[in-house]
Amino acid sequence: MRSVRKGDRVQVLSGDDRGKIGRVLVVIPEKDRIVIENVNMITKHQRATQNLRQPGIVKREGAIHMSNVLPICPECDAPARVKFVDVDGKKMRKCSRCGETF
Ligand SMILES: [Zn+2]
Repeated sequence: MRSVRKGDRVQVLSGDDRGKIGRVLVVIPEKDRIVIENVNMITKHQRATQNLRQPGIVKREGAIHMSNVLPICPECDAPARVKFVDVDGKKMRKCSRCGETF
Protein backbone atom coordinates (compact mmCIF):
# COMPACT_ATOMS: atom_id res chain seq x y z
CA MET A 1 0.00 0.00 0.00
CA ARG A 2 1.13 3.48 -0.79
CA SER A 3 0.40 6.30 1.57
CA VAL A 4 0.09 8.86 -1.20
CA ARG A 5 -2.53 9.06 -3.92
CA LYS A 6 -3.26 11.30 -6.85
CA GLY A 7 -5.02 14.47 -5.74
CA ASP A 8 -3.62 14.34 -2.19
CA ARG A 9 -2.11 17.34 -0.53
CA VAL A 10 1.35 16.37 0.63
CA GLN A 11 4.28 18.02 2.33
CA VAL A 12 7.81 17.55 1.05
CA LEU A 13 10.21 16.37 3.75
CA SER A 14 13.58 16.65 2.10
CA GLY A 15 15.49 18.22 -0.73
CA ASP A 16 15.38 21.74 -2.11
CA ASP A 17 11.60 21.89 -1.76
CA ARG A 18 11.57 20.75 1.83
CA GLY A 19 8.52 22.11 3.65
CA LYS A 20 6.56 22.84 0.49
CA ILE A 21 2.96 21.70 0.29
CA GLY A 22 1.32 20.79 -2.97
CA ARG A 23 -1.18 18.57 -4.68
CA VAL A 24 -0.13 15.26 -6.20
CA LEU A 25 -0.59 15.50 -9.95
CA VAL A 26 0.78 12.13 -11.07
CA VAL A 27 1.66 8.86 -9.38
CA ILE A 28 4.20 6.59 -11.08
CA PRO A 29 3.56 3.34 -9.17
CA GLU A 30 6.27 1.27 -10.83
CA LYS A 31 8.90 3.73 -9.68
CA ASP A 32 7.28 4.82 -6.41
CA ARG A 33 7.59 8.37 -7.60
CA ILE A 34 5.12 11.23 -7.70
CA VAL A 35 4.80 14.61 -9.35
CA ILE A 36 3.59 17.44 -7.11
CA GLU A 37 2.44 20.82 -8.34
CA ASN A 38 5.18 23.46 -8.12
CA VAL A 39 7.63 21.04 -6.51
CA ASN A 40 10.97 20.02 -8.01
CA MET A 41 10.58 22.39 -10.93
CA ILE A 42 12.95 21.51 -13.71
CA THR A 43 13.90 23.66 -16.64
CA LYS A 44 13.82 22.28 -20.13
CA HIS A 45 15.24 23.98 -23.14
CA GLN A 46 12.76 23.48 -25.89
CA ARG A 47 13.36 23.85 -29.57
CA ALA A 48 10.66 25.09 -31.87
CA THR A 49 8.68 22.29 -33.48
CA GLN A 50 5.55 22.18 -35.58
CA ASN A 51 3.43 21.92 -32.46
CA LEU A 52 5.44 24.35 -30.43
CA ARG A 53 6.18 27.53 -32.25
CA GLN A 54 7.59 29.33 -29.25
CA PRO A 55 11.03 27.97 -28.50
CA GLY A 56 12.75 28.68 -25.22
CA ILE A 57 12.77 27.61 -21.64
CA VAL A 58 9.93 25.51 -20.31
CA LYS A 59 9.49 24.81 -16.62
CA ARG A 60 7.72 21.76 -15.38
CA GLU A 61 7.52 19.55 -12.35
CA GLY A 62 9.90 16.63 -12.00
CA ALA A 63 9.04 13.46 -10.12
CA ILE A 64 10.27 12.85 -6.60
CA HIS A 65 10.31 9.68 -4.54
CA MET A 66 7.20 8.97 -2.47
CA SER A 67 9.24 8.37 0.64
CA ASN A 68 10.15 12.07 0.64
CA VAL A 69 6.61 13.24 1.34
CA LEU A 70 3.86 12.83 3.90
CA PRO A 71 0.15 13.22 3.19
CA ILE A 72 -1.61 16.12 4.88
CA CYS A 73 -4.32 14.89 7.24
CA PRO A 74 -7.56 16.74 6.40
CA GLU A 75 -8.47 16.87 10.07
CA CYS A 76 -5.14 18.03 11.56
CA ASP A 77 -4.22 20.02 8.45
CA ALA A 78 -0.67 18.83 9.05
CA PRO A 79 1.59 16.15 7.59
CA ALA A 80 0.67 12.82 9.13
CA ARG A 81 2.16 9.40 9.57
CA VAL A 82 -0.55 7.02 8.51
CA LYS A 83 -1.59 3.45 9.12
CA PHE A 84 -3.81 1.49 6.81
CA VAL A 85 -7.24 0.37 7.88
CA ASP A 86 -10.05 -1.45 6.14
CA VAL A 87 -13.25 0.59 5.82
CA ASP A 88 -16.08 -1.24 4.04
CA GLY A 89 -13.54 -3.29 2.12
CA LYS A 90 -11.64 -0.21 1.07
CA LYS A 91 -8.11 0.51 2.21
CA MET A 92 -8.11 3.85 3.94
CA ARG A 93 -5.35 5.79 5.60
CA LYS A 94 -5.64 6.55 9.24
CA CYS A 95 -3.87 9.54 10.73
CA SER A 96 -1.68 8.37 13.60
CA ARG A 97 -2.21 11.68 15.37
CA CYS A 98 -5.99 12.22 15.37
CA GLY A 99 -7.33 8.89 14.09
CA GLU A 100 -9.10 10.43 11.11
CA THR A 101 -9.45 8.09 8.13
CA PHE A 102 -9.06 9.51 4.67
ZN1 LIG B 1 -4.99 13.88 11.74
